Amino acid sequence: MQVLAKEIEVFLEKSSWIRRMFEEGLELKKKYGEDNVYDFSLGNPDAPPPQIIKDALIEISKKIIRPYGLGYMPNSGYLETRKRLASFVSSEQGFEVKSDDVLLTCGAAGGLNAVFKAILNPDDEVICPRPYFVEYKFYVLNHRGKLISVPTSSDFHLDIKAISDAINKKTRAVLINSPNNPTGAIYTEEELKDLANLLETKSKEYNRPIYLISDEPYRFLVYDDVEVPSIFKFYEFSIVVSSFSKSLSLAGERIGYVALNPKMPEKNKLMDGLVFTNRTLGFVNAPAIGQKILDLALDTSVDTTIYKKKKEMLQKVLEEAGYEFIPPQGGFYFFPKAPGGDDVEFSKKLQKERILVVPGSGFEGKGFFRVSI
Ligand code: PLP
Repeated sequence: MQVLAKEIEVFLEKSSWIRRMFEEGLELKKKYGEDNVYDFSLGNPDAPPPQIIKDALIEISKKIIRPYGLGYMPNSGYLETRKRLASFVSSEQGFEVKSDDVLLTCGAAGGLNAVFKAILNPDDEVICPRPYFVEYKFYVLNHRGKLISVPTSSDFHLDIKAISDAINKKTRAVLINSPNNPTGAIYTEEELKDLANLLETKSKEYNRPIYLISDEPYRFLVYDDVEVPSIFKFYEFSIVVSSFSKSLSLAGERIGYVALNPKMPEKNKLMDGLVFTNRTLGFVNAPAIGQKILDLALDTSVDTTIYKKKKEMLQKVLEEAGYEFIPPQGGFYFFPKAPGGDDVEFSKKLQKERILVVPGSGFEGKGFFRVSI
């Protein structure tokens, strides 16, 4: 019986390694008990949300009893929240952004889907350095595009030549993620400048903008004071997508945003498109409670020393055990080489010891495995 669309049936068969490890982990936990399974698979934030969020929820609960307190709103989000968000993004990016340049979304995932729906024509291509967060592929496919992955350098930084070689008349966007999931790399100003120059030249050559989309949910978490440079400084057709899933431990509340470079030509038209796609994809608007939380908690973050301590501990263990890896510059993950070279085999071996990791193949990063802090 044909229950599912053929495409979805295929995707389910090749289901994401992250999810698979998560589900197998649940089975192991049932069998051996929660404390006897060592789960480094999902990037689920486990630092407690800042106290101000708990206070905010109490405040909000007092106000929502008003009629229509949680009713429909402008599809881009409450104006008050967008104003605050614009000022937050301005200080984070070191570039002045106005409330009309930001759209509140259902997490970074919702934001990316709204962007791809708004800019992709059928068969348009989105170039993404590999390894990459595997859901990207499906987000692009959702909107009839094609994700084209390109290699990175041996330390997982941008290979500008590889990106240049992949660009053609169907290229609509380059999608980057810094700090990176799964590699922990943070792209430098130099490489972002080079990428911006390349995209400027190629956009002219093909006579339509190639957007640079930067997915930044791990921007708040960097090690050793490394800077995360802003793409806005270097390229007009740039879009930042981010969320508070990790920085405020709010992953389940689905609150994120899209910010457009305020210098982008015809940015209002793109924003109109985004508001439309955010609405018609069925998100309608970002969660009302999440937005109200941001009004009060936007300038805070979880206690990052918790993650920094865990990162140091894990690094020591991996080093002492003799794993080969580049320490992450930011984000939640280590991405060591799989001993023996076969990441799937190695992850299965770990699983027998009740240690859950994700094989690099799940991110187009064969030969490595991901360990979440
Ligand atoms: N982008 C990256 C790189 C991620 O790792 C994640 C989640 O883990 C997302 C996007 C999705 O984030 P959100 O919960 O904000 O939709």
